[in-house]
Amino acid sequence: MPIYEYRCQNCGEFERMQKISEEPLKNCPNCKGEVQRLVSRSVGIAFKGPGFYKTDHGTAKDRARKINKERQKDNEAILDGDIKSYVKQSEETTRKIQEA
Ligand SMILES: [Zn+2]
Repeated sequence: MPIYEYRCQNCGEFERMQKISEEPLKNCPNCKGEVQRLVSRSVGIAFKGPGFYKTDHGTAKDRARKINKERQKDNEAILDGDIKSYVKQSEETTRKIQEA
C-alpha cells in the first residue's frame, strides 16, 4: 500500500498509508484542520527516489538507465492501479538495485 504525505496547517506534515482507490484525506485526523496532500516519496513521479543515479560516467550511465527503466515499470504498475503488481515489481526492482 502506498504511503501518502499530507500537510496539516496546524500539525505539520504526516504520513498515511492508503489504498490507491481510497479518497485522499481532506481533514487532519488529529485536529480536523484542512490538509493538503503532498506528492508521495514512495510512489513518486518517474525517476524519483532511490535507484535513480545521474552521472556522466559511461558504465554507470548504462546501469542508471537500466535501473531507471525498472523504476519506470513500478510507476506504470501504480498508474494502472494494480497494487499487487506494483508491490511485486517494486520489490524486484529493489532487489535488482541491491545486486547491481
Ligand atoms: Zn492537524
